[in-house]
Amino acid sequence: MDKPLLCVSACLAGENVRYDGRSVFHPGLWEFVTEHFTPLPFCPEVEAGLPVPRQPMDLFDSPLSPRAIDRNGEDHTFALTRVMRAQIRRLCGLPVCGALLKSRSPSCAVCRRIPVFDRETGRACGESFGLFAKMFLAAFEGLPVADEHVLAGGKAREEFLHAVLARHTFSEDRT
Ligand code: SF4
Repeated sequence: MDKPLLCVSACLAGENVRYDGRSVFHPGLWEFVTEHFTPLPFCPEVEAGLPVPRQPMDLFDSPLSPRAIDRNGEDHTFALTRVMRAQIRRLCGLPVCGALLKSRSPSCAVCRRIPVFDRETGRACGESFGLFAKMFLAAFEGLPVADEHVLAGGKAREEFLHAVLARHTFSEDRT
């Protein structure tokens, strides 16, 4: 049986894609991922044509439909959502069994919401998952998702592994 496909934030796979060019690669986490899964790395921000390094982004306006705007005031929402939709369409054609996405990212945050700010006041007006994470959660309802903190070890890591393997067995049984 093939290993289950796992959608992964490319920065967690060790790719140099972060806004600050800093590595967030954890060898132990990656060993766990590659031992049990076939990773599908993807960085929406770089796929949208943004450089490394780049200005960091935050989410603004509506918590239900936030906009991704960088510290120069440039709104990247349209470019980001275009590549994110294309990636979700691609993933929908694959037997994806889960996702490991980077925490605290305006694109990828999937387990804990991050603040959404009011552009006028600069104050937080709500919270949201990252833009790509929101699309993933909507398209793959019920699929196991985790960030690097969830998979740091212990019971949560075991639970995630079992949940992804269960999805994988289920999808293999249906083919
Ligand atoms: Fe790219 Fe997501 Fe990692 Fe940010 S968190 S660098 S958008 S993969």
